[in-house]
Amino acid sequence: MTTARAMVLEAPGSPLVLRERPLPQPGPGEVRIEVSTCGVCRTDLHLLDAELPDIHYPIVPGHQIVGRVQALGPGVDAGTLKIGDRVGVPWLGGTCGHCDYCLHEQENLCDDAQFTGYQLDGGYATHCIAKAAYCLPLPETMDDQAVAPLLCGGLIGYRCLRMCGDAKRIGMYGFGAAAHQIAQVAIWQQRDVYAFTRAGDTTTQAFARSLGAVWAGESGQTPPQKLDAAILFAPAGELVPMALRAVRKGGRVICGGIHMSDIPSFPYDILWGERSVMSVANLTRADGHEFLTLAAQVPVQTQVTVFALDEANEALDALRNGRFEGAAVLDMRR
Ligand SMILES: [Zn+2]
Ligand SMILES: [Zn+2]
Repeated sequence: MTTARAMVLEAPGSPLVLRERPLPQPGPGEVRIEVSTCGVCRTDLHLLDAELPDIHYPIVPGHQIVGRVQALGPGVDAGTLKIGDRVGVPWLGGTCGHCDYCLHEQENLCDDAQFTGYQLDGGYATHCIAKAAYCLPLPETMDDQAVAPLLCGGLIGYRCLRMCGDAKRIGMYGFGAAAHQIAQVAIWQQRDVYAFTRAGDTTTQAFARSLGAVWAGESGQTPPQKLDAAILFAPAGELVPMALRAVRKGGRVICGGIHMSDIPSFPYDILWGERSVMSVANLTRADGHEFLTLAAQVPVQTQVTVFALDEANEALDALRNGRFEGAAVLDMRR
């Protein structure tokens, strides 16, 4: 094959268009990956809706890429990656490597970080280019469709879970792809998961209970016990005061989304008592290695809805309208 097919975002708010392009060539330190599967993420909707700053068009979305290395660029030595290796390419696609953040295990905060499917063409394509040093090895025991959804929601969710410290009772607001993966890890770690959904969404509540959540209800409800921590996966600012009301003194509210609507003002007394609100941004490669190892141990099961590459717009639309439980992936071999 000498050409690649990609679903391309060419202008703000427009649907993706299928384009046939020359096979991308890997530059120094890069590899070309023949993509088998790519997860569909809420961040892709924020990209489509131009809710992320400084988008340069055209761009190929997709940052939960599973595939095999097909070509090595100059300087990639066979000791790191070889042709045929199965790899994952997550949101963090590159960093400067020398700023204070990069040097202190906070490469997720690097000012010059590059993100896959946002600043670098992503995996809504038959082929893509990735920096070799940012490709993640994948657990052999998990197939491509099972592992792709872990590469964003799972990874960032895992970082959120780590920020909860040793919290025993954890609330999860917005029980989609990320939450249903991280709930399994939390339960495996013998924590209690409280699932909060949109009003009236009893299907998702039942789904959360089936995974082992000790309680499931609506976002505005008061859980039967005060929570030690809460993770917000839904991009709705009004959840911040709701979650603050649900956590105990000293409790943490972790915001896991890259984008969130404005947080309404709230009385200081719901923050008082050493409660805290923080955000989690992106991920580090260390998070990736740690989480993927853990995910294989649990093992994290993801309910997957599969679409073909040229059905990417339908997949995004289904995600936007909450038409499936779990995660959606594109399968390039369809
Ligand atoms: Zn840096
Ligand atoms: Zn994502």
